[in-house]
Parts: sequence; structure tokens; C-alpha cells
Amino acid sequence: MFGLKFLGKTHIPHNKNTADLTPVKMTPPKEVLLPMAQHIGAPATPVVKVGDEVKVGQLIAEPSGYVSSPIYSSVSGKVTKIDNYLRPDGKSVPAIRIESDGEMSVLEGITPPEVTDFDSFIGAIRSSGLVGLGGAGFPTSVKLDAVKNGGIHTIVINGAECEPYITSDTRTMLDQSEAVYDGIALLEKYVPTAEKFIFGIEKNKPACIEEMARIFQDNPKVSIMPLPSLYPQGAEKVIIYNTTGLTVPEGKLPADVGVLVINVTSLAVLANYVKTGMPLVEKCVTVDGSAVKEPKNVVAPIGTSIREIIEFAGGLKEEAGKVIFGGPMMGIPACSLDEPISKTTNAITVFNVKEATEREASACIHCGRCVSACPMGLNPTAFSKALGYGTEEKMEKLEEASINLCMECGCCSYVCPASRPLVQNNRLGKTALREYKAHKASLK
Ligand code: SF4
Ligand code: SF4
Repeated sequence: MFGLKFLGKTHIPHNKNTADLTPVKMTPPKEVLLPMAQHIGAPATPVVKVGDEVKVGQLIAEPSGYVSSPIYSSVSGKVTKIDNYLRPDGKSVPAIRIESDGEMSVLEGITPPEVTDFDSFIGAIRSSGLVGLGGAGFPTSVKLDAVKNGGIHTIVINGAECEPYITSDTRTMLDQSEAVYDGIALLEKYVPTAEKFIFGIEKNKPACIEEMARIFQDNPKVSIMPLPSLYPQGAEKVIIYNTTGLTVPEGKLPADVGVLVINVTSLAVLANYVKTGMPLVEKCVTVDGSAVKEPKNVVAPIGTSIREIIEFAGGLKEEAGKVIFGGPMMGIPACSLDEPISKTTNAITVFNVKEATEREASACIHCGRCVSACPMGLNPTAFSKALGYGTEEKMEKLEEASINLCMECGCCSYVCPASRPLVQNNRLGKTALREYKAHKASLK
């Protein structure tokens, strides 16, 4: 049966080289590029035009649907261009380019939002521009709005940060524990059905476990759960299972089993917004990898180019062979150093040419390691095989093998001795199935 194996067995070098480094705020970048789709859902709609002067925290694009998110200027300066930007995933979206005046002047009149009840709480989260910072960027207001349907008994705070190299959540727990504390107080107030708040933190972060235990020592509703340092401990279904013992069935949401998961940095951003009214305009980004001269945590305005962030961090010591938004397991390769960081970027990992050179794939030797490594109990070879069939049969076989349960964690590819492109095949299969279903639905 699928989905009952969540612990996983994949030991991956953690490389948390920057865990002890307090984030450094970067100098103002020359310009920022802000794509209108930094979240799942409808792209935001620009409300500024070329030539407009903007300030930090000023609304430059409003949400264009329920599942959407506003975008704010992260620098002060002038809007120089609004055109299309090709994202690393190949999709083209409108983007606003702002030339910085170097002043980082904050918009006058920013005040904390008035939060008095559930609706104003959700409204504040929506206005903050907050989207899931530990994952794909699902608008946090939409996630929390589902709470009004009732039945949430447990809130899991995801502080696992299992992806190699990345330490931005680690720093949130150490440097912003007060905001994390305030975030829990907000959730206690506005999600009154929640009886338990469980922090899931990997055991390789003892200082975070200690700090969270210290600040919540007097709150009996909060527990801190040290988790084995096994990848992908931070994946939503994995952390739910490992902290609560509950399984989210295929096609269901955590809310269907009474659980809400929120990333620890999202929680801190939410609390900071309610306290100050300053929306999401900057991110702490871990800059690391074999080509990086001085690994660091850098706080950068959203929209800053990878190039400027790396330069600020001290530059490269070797030629870049591969640049990734995020870490090596689930990150997305960047096409160029001029690409900007977005709301969901928590790291820039740069590998040297030697490390980036992928071994050529050879034939499957049927060793079964990919099956053993899959935390969801899936058979990745079945997905690859299914891709070779004609459309109808392919879709049938992909569904039969539960491809939608694949969370693209990359464990199967990581352990494969034949270097088979398993996770890439899984992505292709999931996209093909999704498009096929959408096409079928459109014909009805
Ligand atoms: S990427 Fe591979 S290991 Fe991870 S869930 Fe999907 S099939 Fe399983
Ligand atoms: S790990 Fe690689 S070689 Fe082994 S069964 Fe899976 S695909 Fe085949």
C-alpha cells in the first residue's frame, strides 16, 4: 500500500555550512526584477506604469483572483520596464523592472493592519504578500482561510529544513524567535480549534530545538519534536506523518485529516507583518556550494539578481557549472546569473564544473534502490516505463502507479547507481497526466 513508509532512508550530506552565520543585509542592488507570478495561482496585475517612482513596501501589483498574491516594491526607485520574463520553468510572465535609487526609502504611512477577528486576520495575511516560503508558493491566506471550515486540531510548524546547504529557516528560529512566538499567539487566537502546535525540527539543529523549547516552555499546547535527519523530512506529508502519525490520503489535503502545516519562516513573516505593516519585500537567502568563495546567509530585496547577491556574498572561487534556486535535491536550475530571487527563494547553490557534470545514464540494473529510497513507497521505474506507452495506456499506468503521490523529492535519482533521470521522468509524467485530465475535462 502506498504512503505508509514516510520515514525514508536517505542519508544525504547536510552541508549546513552557514548554520552559525548570522544573516548579513546586502547593500541596495542596482535594480530588481519582480515577476507577477511568484506564487501558485493567477499572476498579480501591475498597478504601476513605466516612469513611476516607487518606495519600499509600495504595492506595485494586486492579486487578480482568490488564489493570487500582491507584490510590493522591494527597493525605492523608478519603474523602468514592464515586459515578459521567462521563468526557469519555461513559463513567460509579466515582470516589473525597478531601477534602485540606492536609498531604500520606505513608503510613508506604513502602519500595522487592524486585526480584530478571523476575517481581518485572513485579510492581513493576504495583504502581507505572504506565500508558502518553504515550498511552491501557495498563498498563505488561502491555506489559512480553509481553517474556517473547522476541524483543524493540530498545527505543524515546519522547521525541518532537510534540503542540503539551506539554513535560512535555522536562522529564523535562532534570530527571530520572538516573531515565531508571536506567530503562534496569532494562530492560537484565530484558529481556536487547534489544540496542539508541534514544531518538527531535524536533530541536526540542536540550537533551534533548544531555542524553541526555551521560548515555549510555558505553553502546554506547544511541543518541540526533534526528528531524524533523514531527507525529505520537511516534505508536507512526511512531516505530518512523523509528527502526528496521520496519513494524508492520495488526492486529499492536510486539512482533511485536521492538520495545517506552516513553515517556520512564514510564521515569523506573518507575525512581523501584523506587528509592523511592512509586507514581504526581502528574503534571507543561503549562498553556498562548491563554487562559492565565502558561504553566507544574505538578506536581499526580492527581485535582486543572483549575480548581485553572489557578488555581495564575496563572489565565486571557481567557474560556475550549475546554479540552482534552492538546494541540490529540490531546487530549480537557473538559466542565467541575471535571474532574480523570488518570494520562495531560500538559497542560491552554485556548484563548480566538476561537481555539476552529470554522469551519463546507463540501463536500469533492477537493483530496486529507488523503490527502497522512496519515502512514499512508490516505484519510480514504473513511471519511467509508463512514459514509453501510447497516450491512453500511459495515463492509465501512471495513475495506477500513483504518480500524483510523487513529491519530486529526488531521493530515487540520488540513489540510482545507473544515474537514471527518475525525478525528471516523474515530473514529465505528472505534467502529462495533469494536462491530459484538463483536456478531457474541457471536452465535457
Ligand atoms: S521523487 Fe522519487 S523518491 Fe521522491 S517521491 Fe517521487 S518517486 Fe519517490
Ligand atoms: S535505482 Fe536505478 S538502476 Fe536501480 S532499479 Fe531504480 S532505476 Fe533501476
